[in-house]
Amino acid sequence: MNDNHTHSPATRLVIFGRQGAGKGTQCNRIVEHYGVVHLSTGDMFRAARDAETELGRQVAPIMASGGLVSDELTIAIVRERLAEPDVRERGFVLDGFPRTPAQAAALLEMLGDDRLHAVLNLDVPLEEVTARMKARGREDDTDDGIAKRLALYDMQTVPTIEWFRERDLLVNIDGLGTEDEVTVRIFDAIDSVLAATP
Ligand code: AMP
Repeated sequence: MNDNHTHSPATRLVIFGRQGAGKGTQCNRIVEHYGVVHLSTGDMFRAARDAETELGRQVAPIMASGGLVSDELTIAIVRERLAEPDVRERGFVLDGFPRTPAQAAALLEMLGDDRLHAVLNLDVPLEEVTARMKARGREDDTDDGIAKRLALYDMQTVPTIEWFRERDLLVNIDGLGTEDEVTVRIFDAIDSVLAATP
């Protein structure tokens, strides 16, 4: 077979969801069920920051301010990670990446002939995630802080979600209901894409 046409059999996913939408729990279940690798750029940047690597020193002030790390740096770390054998073999669920349309375009370019199976948008209305975060009652969850963080997510991430929607890659998942109900919706969505994939 020609190298250009060898597709990896692994499952490749992206997940979007506001804070408080239950993305962490659902990611864990996706990892367990499909055997994919959880790839969180936030985790990668936090690890670099805590290890005080050169990258960590560059990103620490950006993260502290709530801003986004440059597309160049972010795309570079994802590109490296996607090339590693575990991710090639097992596939991935990307969490926190892409965050800009430029990152989204770079992801499709990196994948080449390997299909991105689904981009899941775990959809929980703003009022509901606000109520969940208030109920959680963490110290940094002041009403103002919660509103600001959620507004920042919408501002930064919605254009990227729209980018995927325009390309018919987005699968909207109703994130209301019990964790188990939401998991069933996610697995059904993934399974139907996999079944339709040659
Ligand atoms: P998270 O835990 O996903 O909210 O990520 C923590 C921080 O890491 C963010 O506030 C950004 O500063 C940075 N970060 C994570 N992912 C990205 C990304 N895809 N593009 C740019 N910056 C990112």
